[in-house]
Amino acid sequence: MQISTVMLQALKDRKASSDYEGRMQAVQAAATSDWQQAMQQKLGKLLSEPSSVRVKLRKLYTLADEAHQNRASVIACKAGCSACCHIQVEINEAEARLIGDATGRKPRQLPPGRHTTPAQQLGKQDTPCTFLVQGKCSIYEHRPFVCREMAVLDVDALTCSFENMYLARMNDPRAVLVPQANMPPLRQAMLKIVQGSRSGAWADIRQFFP
Ligand code: SF4
Repeated sequence: MQISTVMLQALKDRKASSDYEGRMQAVQAAATSDWQQAMQQKLGKLLSEPSSVRVKLRKLYTLADEAHQNRASVIACKAGCSACCHIQVEINEAEARLIGDATGRKPRQLPPGRHTTPAQQLGKQDTPCTFLVQGKCSIYEHRPFVCREMAVLDVDALTCSFENMYLARMNDPRAVLVPQANMPPLRQAMLKIVQGSRSGAWADIRQFFP
């Protein structure tokens, strides 16, 4: 893959100027033990309540947005950025149904199990998410968990570019490896919620909504 000298220079400059350690420290400082304890309590309450998978998922989305706000000042992920809408967006069929409810589009029914292909797992630049319209998420309020948990510790989406991801996959030293500050307890809660409904199919959002 040919990468422009402009992009290579931009990555070089970013590597020289980045302060990922400082950003990670800021995330850790914002997530005080009180804040983490409160979040754990909310997750525990959510998991134990006798509501449906749909209701639980919606509540989990709210908690994911809360976690996002907690670190918003030091991450690149913001409304309007669509960098990760071009790579794999793996969702569960329960989430596909929620999107279907919100959009009136019926998701494809897929057999239980994982359907994402190796090419999707590697990411492809030329296949934006079905719901990306003119560079914006057309279902922002209803976007799935994976779109909410992303927390890239950077100032913009430069390092989320296909070029940088390609270099990283090739173990090229010119790649800029950006730490993420995703919250594993939220992901674990998400898995518990959908497993409570037998888990079903996992696939890229484009497979549910071609
Ligand atoms: S659902 Fe929205 S935020 Fe998520 S990948 Fe698609 S367009 Fe992007």
